[in-house]
Amino acid sequence: MSQPPDNHYQVAILGGGIAGLTLALILERLGITWTLWESHETISPEIGAGIGLLPNGFRILDQLGLLDRIEKLTVPLETWYHVDENGEPIAVSDAQRYYRFAVGYDARFVERSKLLRIIYDGIDDKSLVRTSMELSRIDQGADYFTIAAVGRIRITANVVVGADGARSSIRKYIGQSIGRQIKKEMQAQFTCIFGMSPGMSELERGEAFAVYHKGATVLAFTGKRVIFWFVFEDLGHTFPLSYNPSYDIADIEEVCQAVGHLHLTPTVKFGDIYANRSSVQKTTLEEGLAEHWHANRMVVVGDAAHKMVPHAAMGANQAIESAAALANELQKLGQVNEGWTTATIATALEKYTQARRDRVATVVSKAGAICRAQLCCPGHDQLVKALPKLSFADWMTQSLFSFRGASRIESLPMTERGKYYEERLKSFFDKWDKACGMVEGIEKPQLTDETFWEMFECGEWKG
Ligand SMILES: Cc1cc2nc3c(=O)[nH]c(=O)nc-3n(C[C@H](O)[C@H](O)[C@H](O)COP(=O)(O)OP(=O)(O)OC[C@H]3O[C@@H](n4cnc5c(N)ncnc54)[C@H](O)[C@@H]3O)c2cc1C
Repeated sequence: MSQPPDNHYQVAILGGGIAGLTLALILERLGITWTLWESHETISPEIGAGIGLLPNGFRILDQLGLLDRIEKLTVPLETWYHVDENGEPIAVSDAQRYYRFAVGYDARFVERSKLLRIIYDGIDDKSLVRTSMELSRIDQGADYFTIAAVGRIRITANVVVGADGARSSIRKYIGQSIGRQIKKEMQAQFTCIFGMSPGMSELERGEAFAVYHKGATVLAFTGKRVIFWFVFEDLGHTFPLSYNPSYDIADIEEVCQAVGHLHLTPTVKFGDIYANRSSVQKTTLEEGLAEHWHANRMVVVGDAAHKMVPHAAMGANQAIESAAALANELQKLGQVNEGWTTATIATALEKYTQARRDRVATVVSKAGAICRAQLCCPGHDQLVKALPKLSFADWMTQSLFSFRGASRIESLPMTERGKYYEERLKSFFDKWDKACGMVEGIEKPQLTDETFWEMFECGEWKG
């Protein structure tokens, strides 16, 4: 291997969103040299979006020592109301209330900018995070890449990670480097207007409301003195990634006025929440799985690899998991640059892909199915019809399935809560696999609530 120049890192990360920053923090803890370039001028822009964090993401954030700050800012999600357009319940689930007892962590909603700030604050050497970096070129040498930013510095790195979102440049480089045209792997059928409004006395903290309505509808979460809300609109057909309109306030007004009459509860209309908004933005919602996650020492992570609609509240949680899984494989290459050959890196990146692809494919597809059911898309009414029949055990079992098989940081110690997560899930699924086989699906309730509790032998997290 040729001697790398001075400005050399084992890993160059492009993109300082949740995936990129989490990866940077993990690599720092593992002693792997890295630098991160973010094209935006700031690391935690105030875009007024809420992110739902779930136990699988929290377990990794806990390993990184970030849990306390997030918990102090947020409240646990306790009850989820699935309602018709008049706010009358179709189904109510309080399974989320039991997550902490079940696996040690809650579901919680946090402002995206605050989450980014907390992850960033965890990084010791902040000089390695550079903002306003516009990638100009990547040249691949025999042992390392040379990466340049417009009018700025030039660095070299053994591995380039694209944590650069759904419209990833690195994913395109990967396609080009193996002579493959990027196919229609990510497309958009929906748009999302997201915003925040002050809490209302009529709504308790820690509640979620999903209104089932054709064409355009509302999803909302109540936090500490805040309501995070989303308006989804069905575009009627799919658009390629090149479809990326910039929406103005008139576009937002039109859709939000049209759903203003939808009720979250019989007494609270979406229009009342929208009227008090403190922030609002609109975006297209891409969905899909990258066909090629890596090639020639380039790799994608987070939305660049797996983009999903927000309905499973999993995009960021999966981005965090993928960052952990990628770091796990890079760690196994050893600390010394000499271990980082093209062949060993290719094997590591393939192992990372194998570790993540199937799990994340399931989540992308589930999130899409829930979104289509909520928007009453043709052919997706089965899930809505099943809602009133779902028992506590059904909701809980579905959640536990989504926490099962989650990645964590293998070479950092697990906290007591992390161990509890591992033990409880293992104990439950050992029994589940014996009693029910591998059948998964909320259309087929498997357990009575009583049997669920017997099987789960639920402890109580006292941390
Ligand atoms: C409305 C909405 C609601 C959501 N709600 C939830 C939820 O409740 N729970 C959940 O888990 N997930 C949710 N998600 C999904 C979640 O936000 C994403 O999955 C997650 O933020 C992905 O993070 P990322 O770092 O992979 O990508 P991004 O957040 O897209 O970050 C990519 C970063 O790369 C930068 N970048 C792009 N190109 C370059 C380049 N060439 N060089 C350098 N930098 C570059 C961008 O500026 C950006 O900062 C939601 C998403 C949306 C749109």
